[in-house]
Amino acid sequence: LNMVEFNAVSPQDIKDKVDTLCKLLDECVENQTNGVIGYQLTSDKSDILKIYAMRKKSVGLLGNVKGSQKPLAFAEDTAVPPENLADYIVEFRALLDSHNLQYGMFGHVDAGVLHVRPALDMCDPEQEKLLRTISDEVVKLTAKYGGLMWGEHGKGYRSEYGPEFFGEHLFTQLRKIKSAFDPNNKINPGKICTPIESKDSLVSVDGQKRSYFDKQISIDVKTSFNNAMTCNGNGLCFNYDENSPMCPSYKVTGDRRNSPKGRAGLMREWLRLQESKEVNLLEVEKELNKGEVITWWERFVHSREKKQGVYDFSHEVKASMDECLACKACTTACPIKVDVPTFRARFLNYYHSYYARPLKDYLVGNIENSAPLMAKFARVINPIVKTSLVSGLIKKTVGYVDTPQLSIPALNKRVNKAQKFNLELLKKLSTDEQNDYVLIVQDPFTSFYEAELVESFFTLITQLGKKPMLLPFKPNGKPQHVKGFLHEFKLTAKNAAEFLNQLNDINAPLVGLDASLVMCYRDEYNTILESNRGDFNVQLAHEWLETQSFSALKAKQINTEFTLLSHCTETTALPKAASVWKNIFDELGLTLNTTNTGCCGMAGTYGHEAQNQANSKALYEMSWKPIVDKNKPEQLLSTGFSCRSQVKRYEKFKPKHPIELLAKVLS
Ligand code: SF4
Ligand code: SF4
Repeated sequence: LNMVEFNAVSPQDIKDKVDTLCKLLDECVENQTNGVIGYQLTSDKSDILKIYAMRKKSVGLLGNVKGSQKPLAFAEDTAVPPENLADYIVEFRALLDSHNLQYGMFGHVDAGVLHVRPALDMCDPEQEKLLRTISDEVVKLTAKYGGLMWGEHGKGYRSEYGPEFFGEHLFTQLRKIKSAFDPNNKINPGKICTPIESKDSLVSVDGQKRSYFDKQISIDVKTSFNNAMTCNGNGLCFNYDENSPMCPSYKVTGDRRNSPKGRAGLMREWLRLQESKEVNLLEVEKELNKGEVITWWERFVHSREKKQGVYDFSHEVKASMDECLACKACTTACPIKVDVPTFRARFLNYYHSYYARPLKDYLVGNIENSAPLMAKFARVINPIVKTSLVSGLIKKTVGYVDTPQLSIPALNKRVNKAQKFNLELLKKLSTDEQNDYVLIVQDPFTSFYEAELVESFFTLITQLGKKPMLLPFKPNGKPQHVKGFLHEFKLTAKNAAEFLNQLNDINAPLVGLDASLVMCYRDEYNTILESNRGDFNVQLAHEWLETQSFSALKAKQINTEFTLLSHCTETTALPKAASVWKNIFDELGLTLNTTNTGCCGMAGTYGHEAQNQANSKALYEMSWKPIVDKNKPEQLLSTGFSCRSQVKRYEKFKPKHPIELLAKVLS
């Protein structure tokens, strides 16, 4: 794929250049020469941006190849005079082909810079040796074409070639520059050169690399923890853009240990240390998933040692995992799909089999069991938890703050008899009659804390000519997964999956309202239940609404422009969601502006934990407050329960879900 961009002083200049190239390309296509099979021309800015975005992502995708041989950036970033580039590429490819290697190759023709990433399995000693062989061969080839090994950034292990390439005079100047900025050789020590007065050695191509440590982890464990092992260190997760969902915990702490890359690195080291202690992690996990493996007394002893300050590397990993919001942005925004929430849950599961858990973990892990019970006594509980005495006590003992208020009246008081689940009735209906129904999958947040939203969804479904039916509440298990109660999560998931799978034969869609719980049915259920997950499919409200026609409906026209703030899990996993809402609003003659935002800082229960207050607020102020401040409360719409709760606690008003607005304007 070649991308060609023209710049010129006048539009006519550009046109002439483009015409000349197109004429050439047309001839090539017609005569089938030079490998040209076609081309596309654009001057549209959004198209151009899409092409560059594809170019940017392709580097990441390259790192995402399956298998143990991964493209490595060790012989790349070479630069030869552009007029030599074509011949250089031909020889470079022949060189790699002679070693039977797969590789990715991209670059900048105008500057003669080439990025080449041969795929090697660095845990295989024979392939590891190839790194030296190929490096030496590429150095010779680059010198032959009058080039350099450092086109743009000097990544990789190549400093030992520096003195020869630069010559004594230039290399000495480089060392002096290094001395001026880094006299103690602390920054990438020896990667390009050492300070002039330093006796340190340059990094050798044969120097110790990550594979030295990775090799100490057994293949089974490596495969099982693939979602941490495959991080290739490209650093795309060191993201400072406050309007990007990528890693809120890194953004707010500025600490690399709290980034996906940092956590993947900590996890690999932790796995290596377990291996060195001859812990068969996968076997222990199997035992853990069945129930207990150590006694409460042993756990008490370990916890006491921890309190006494006995060192264990696990505590460092735990500290980093505690800062993670489990927002899942990394699982989609990282080009390699490094999945921190999954390995974090496994780590916490293991860690807390050894060390006692704080009380709040039990509170969060059991929220789906306690919420239905509490909802029955909402009129008593709500005023009590609001008192400063009780809220202070909860904060002190459990470490939980700003407990949300339960819905009054409760959801089951808002649905009529015909809207309650009736499997017998559904089974008796014809397929067409079943298709009139929409089965609502409950979640603990909207059902018990925002029953008015579920009620609005019922209204909207009815307005669309369908019949809503509320399924009985079944815990989803997401809070258990977040806290690493994997044994309990598996049981919960099994139970929910069994229930939902029995509805597979009913020709009616299953629809849920909370993005993180619906995504849990898709992702975490697959991982924990594997082939036992079954085929049930729960859609999110916008996915179902997208299939409905609004053309027969008339919306009350209101003179307000709405702004949609999306849930970050939705933004990363289902990037089309915002545009679906926009299309629905357009169809009804309403204006909905969509905007990019980072994480609101709530992320399920993270923002309710006392220890996270400062970070939760900082994230809100960084990514949400500027947009909230620009809009009037009635203009703001938000799809996430957590996000709406977060706005409420800092702004004292709660944005509506788009469903609530639609139900209102259509009535
Ligand atoms: S976690 Fe992903 S984005 Fe971050 S360095 Fe690793 S591979 Fe790159
Ligand atoms: S889940 Fe979110 S906070 Fe945690 S590492 Fe991934 S992006 Fe960062």
